[in-house]
Amino acid sequence: MTAQTFQPLKIFNTLTRKKDVFVPIAPPYVGMYVCGPTVYNNVHLGNIRTFLSFDILFRYLTHIGYKVRYVRNITDVGHLVGDGDEGEDKIGKMAKLQKLEPMEIVQRYTNDFHDVTAVFNLLSPSIEPTATGHLIEQIEAVESLIEKGVAYESNGSVYFDINKYQAGGNEYGKLSGRIIEDLLNETRDLDGQAEKRNPLDFALWKKASPEHIMQWESPWGKGFPGWHLECTCMSAKYLGKQFDIHGGGMDLKFPHHECEIAQGKSLTGEEPVRYWMHTNMLTVNGQKMSKSLGNSFLPAELFSGNHELLEQAYSPMTVRFFMLQSQYRSTLDFSNDALKAAHKGYKKLANGLRLAKLLTYTHEDGVSADDAKKADIEKSIEGFYNAMNDDLNTAVAFANLFNMLKYINMLNTGQLKSAALGEAVFTSLKEQFVVFFEDVLGLKEELAEGHAILDGMLKLYREFKLSQNYEKVDEIRSYFKNQGLVIRDTKTRIDWAYEE
Ligand SMILES: [Zn+2]
Repeated sequence: MTAQTFQPLKIFNTLTRKKDVFVPIAPPYVGMYVCGPTVYNNVHLGNIRTFLSFDILFRYLTHIGYKVRYVRNITDVGHLVGDGDEGEDKIGKMAKLQKLEPMEIVQRYTNDFHDVTAVFNLLSPSIEPTATGHLIEQIEAVESLIEKGVAYESNGSVYFDINKYQAGGNEYGKLSGRIIEDLLNETRDLDGQAEKRNPLDFALWKKASPEHIMQWESPWGKGFPGWHLECTCMSAKYLGKQFDIHGGGMDLKFPHHECEIAQGKSLTGEEPVRYWMHTNMLTVNGQKMSKSLGNSFLPAELFSGNHELLEQAYSPMTVRFFMLQSQYRSTLDFSNDALKAAHKGYKKLANGLRLAKLLTYTHEDGVSADDAKKADIEKSIEGFYNAMNDDLNTAVAFANLFNMLKYINMLNTGQLKSAALGEAVFTSLKEQFVVFFEDVLGLKEELAEGHAILDGMLKLYREFKLSQNYEKVDEIRSYFKNQGLVIRDTKTRIDWAYEE
């Protein structure tokens, strides 16, 4: 069974404001760029949701046969407090606070980011470029924009000229749906505004004040690149002047992505991105997750349960499963009840995975085909693909996966004979379940590394049971129980499973 027989893959494109059929520029290759973290503090859960959403896209595109180049940058300079052209550099500020070199801050939080993404089983991108590693490209881009007349130097800084850009027939605000007049009304009186011809002009290069730690030589004196420029330069360098997919959190739509479009289009004359994708935010008990409200979690707090809003610890795969239960464009509300339910759901599927791997097909004479079940299994597999093809609707994909789980459990208890499904349907149920769980949804069995120990303990359990040493049998049962596991001791088989 192949994905090609199903609905075509559609992606909600922020640029067109509708679900567009995904047609890559040069199939089977797909170029995908996602704005990575600014590495000045520990990555929080809202960020993880964004990177997880694009992990699913990366996995799914690969699964259906595309060769994906996934670029996700590390912002290690130029992102200012307040996300605009004013204020301190986020990394420079943290370096001062912690009395460390900026690159120590960058290294520390890049390591944290990598550790956390690995715990959540996110695949590494194909390329992970840094802003400081692409200063030459950024300076060249600024020179080119000045040459093209859409940027100007002012007091050692260089700004992008919104009026010139608009005069060239372009529309600043088309991605985010912002209207220039409204934006002008919202503009505050800020330092550096006097240097700009239009308050909406944004910095491509900023003159560094003497106390600014990170600064480089440029044709305009010592300074540093504007935040929006790195993504334009690095995406063009690794994916070309026009590429397939650009993603990020919805808070990046404006100004960051709007500015990327303006820069890219001015540099090459082409629309830089075909499909813009934005993930929705994470809320906590209905409120926006934010540090100032005290309701934002670090992954470590979640895994330890060490936070006043958490009733217990939750494992990385429980959280991954929880996040994927909603489609990436809907808000996701984080609550203890929802997480506890996710914990149960994840364990049911994890048990299904173990069983699916153990199931074997048995030919049996006299077992008649169960056509209704066969059709329902095929419908679930098709339903899974169609859900993923419908703008990565993981919520519906899970409903289909749970329907497949039902048949795996029936096969395990003997309620359903494999012969009633026929070898082809049986095999596709078993294999697709594993592929959907592990490869597409990126879930894994959390105790997979400990299987050898558990299997050894189970062997002892059998021996103690045979020798009627029930005290030891109980000890082994509680050993499993302490890890959230249960020994399933039936007439036909002794096995362990996640306690559901
Ligand atoms: Zn970016």
